[in-house]
Amino acid sequence: MASEKASSAYTYVDHKFDVVIVGAGGAGLRATLGMAEQGLKTACITKVFPTRSHTVAAQGGIAASLRNMGPDHWQWHLYDTVKGSDWLGDVDAMEYLTREAPAAVYELEHYGVPFSRTEEGKIYQRPFGGHMQNFGDGPPVQRTCAAADRTGHAILHTLYGQSLRNNAQFFIEYFALDLIMDDDGTCIGVVAWNLDDGTIHRFSAKMVVLATGGYGRAYFSATSAHTCTGDGGGMVARAGLPLQDMEFVQFHPTGIYGAGCLITEGARGEGGYLVNSEGERFMERYAPSAKDLASRDVVSRCMTMEIREGRGVGKLKDHIYLHLDHLDPAVLHERLPGISESAKIFAGVDVTREPIPVLPTVHYNMGGIPTNYWGEVLNPTPKAPDRIQPGLMAVGEAGCASVHGANRLGSNSLIDLVVFGRAAAIKAGQVVDRNAAIPSLNMASVDKIMDRFDQLRHANGSTPTAVLRERMQRAMQEDAAVFRTQDTLEQGCKRISKIWGELKDIKVFDRSMIWNSDLVETLELENLMANAICTVYGAEARKESRGAHAREDFDKRDDKNWRKHTLSWVDANGKVTLGYRAVHTEPQLAYEDGGIDPARIAPKARVY
Ligand SMILES: Cc1cc2nc3c(=O)[nH]c(=O)nc-3n(C[C@H](O)[C@H](O)[C@H](O)COP(=O)(O)OP(=O)(O)OC[C@H]3O[C@@H](n4cnc5c(N)ncnc54)[C@H](O)[C@@H]3O)c2cc1C
Repeated sequence: MASEKASSAYTYVDHKFDVVIVGAGGAGLRATLGMAEQGLKTACITKVFPTRSHTVAAQGGIAASLRNMGPDHWQWHLYDTVKGSDWLGDVDAMEYLTREAPAAVYELEHYGVPFSRTEEGKIYQRPFGGHMQNFGDGPPVQRTCAAADRTGHAILHTLYGQSLRNNAQFFIEYFALDLIMDDDGTCIGVVAWNLDDGTIHRFSAKMVVLATGGYGRAYFSATSAHTCTGDGGGMVARAGLPLQDMEFVQFHPTGIYGAGCLITEGARGEGGYLVNSEGERFMERYAPSAKDLASRDVVSRCMTMEIREGRGVGKLKDHIYLHLDHLDPAVLHERLPGISESAKIFAGVDVTREPIPVLPTVHYNMGGIPTNYWGEVLNPTPKAPDRIQPGLMAVGEAGCASVHGANRLGSNSLIDLVVFGRAAAIKAGQVVDRNAAIPSLNMASVDKIMDRFDQLRHANGSTPTAVLRERMQRAMQEDAAVFRTQDTLEQGCKRISKIWGELKDIKVFDRSMIWNSDLVETLELENLMANAICTVYGAEARKESRGAHAREDFDKRDDKNWRKHTLSWVDANGKVTLGYRAVHTEPQLAYEDGGIDPARIAPKARVY
């Protein structure tokens, strides 16, 4: 019925591009810049102004073995990333990341990123959790390049300027609804809604790149922006493609208690430390070598255990203190000005005198849209686990290459954005045929997209979006938390499936097409739900502990049965189907040719 009527009720504007990038965070902008530099006709669509993307909030820095402050080697960085991933990352992708990292950072420097400097004028680098010298033996290495504690801000502004300079075309405050798919399953474009004037834009393209960021907002307390709603994951799921490793959700040890805003790990990199109610620096007990700079999943679990055992601080004994007050105020002023300000505003604390109250808070999604290390999206089958999905790429937090495996190291995301944003551009330069015609619209696919949009716009049930969203966020926070058990996860599956059913009863109050934030939030909720349901079902099925996925009932890593990627498909009725895909365990570069010794990266116990 509605099919023709729904799609004929809107005003359309059509576009043709070689490549369309959805997202203007660090990953989207680096891809946009790389595509435009090669003369591809490039569009970048973004729901927020580019420099308001969540990347702007990245504080601590970007990892690369530049060795400006002491010895380092890309192989040490690779080892740390493999160990950080708890042996779930794909080794070829991690090798590509760590080998390309220095060149990608120098490129940023030449584009104009205002990095902090050493006395000799080199890029300043600080220590970060899990980054060590000598294949993990230590001491900590200074590998994280920083522009004070505003590194993401500096990168984003520079990349946006450079993209404009190269004539990329921006569609700002356009909300991408869904991928246009051809009958043979090729992605041939994307439909977006111009929030400002209500027109619907149909983009045809030879390649679509999803760079839509993470889905931290599936949880109640997260450091991520309200715009981090996993829209790319939602679009991919609706196109019948799988998501990968969604059960791995990173909790950052130091979200400000109550507010959830981040205090960068750089604070501990500069010498900050955690204490419990007895004034004890408890991390020395759990991680004698790396101490407060053990990796994030480890520190978050130790904090949770201290609190559970009654050694939390504050009236309710439900959080931990982070001390910076022993540091030289001049260092705080120069290296950590932003977090000094955040602590003042959100915790009322003067960091030169008092500790900051902190708590593990959802921070990063290791899982996402499966890709190879060129950013090409994978549509695996049991026989062809690395099969490429034509016409579609994914980069940044939305993607899963997989370089972070079961747990990401701090400062390894910003480098992931620029290395894989750049790789996607290189690959597109090779596979996009400039002379070929741009595909024409597939009206059946467009009608389907517009039907869904129209139905949501007129949704007239009895549950407001905000009510359902909070139900989802509470369920995720309680049932897919730092520590997990069969009971909590089964309960989580039931709750999220029930909430999926309740989407039918949603109520959208505003029917207009212009700045309709009610409808935007409803579209975002559907996207969040696709991510959330895969997270909790994947977690329930994985009967082991690995990286950020810590099960009390299966407290060991089980490489024999579980060193494999989870794939999850979710259909329109919220039915989740799980499958698995082998981890790539082989480096690309042979040992004889200067590659890493495979024995170095063989699985072993992960201790810091
Ligand atoms: C507070 C904080 C601090 C961090 N600090 C660090 C750090 O120091 N070092 C580090 O390595 N990592 C850090 N991280 C992690 C890192 O910053 C993020 O993983 C990374 O910035 C994500 O970048 P992105 O380009 O993938 O996505 P984002 O920066 O989140 O951008 C997503 C883009 O997609 C667009 N978009 C999304 N959905 C749609 C849609 N439907 N239609 C149109 N456009 C859409 C948005 O408008 C936006 O432009 C931090 C994260 C947080 C939250």
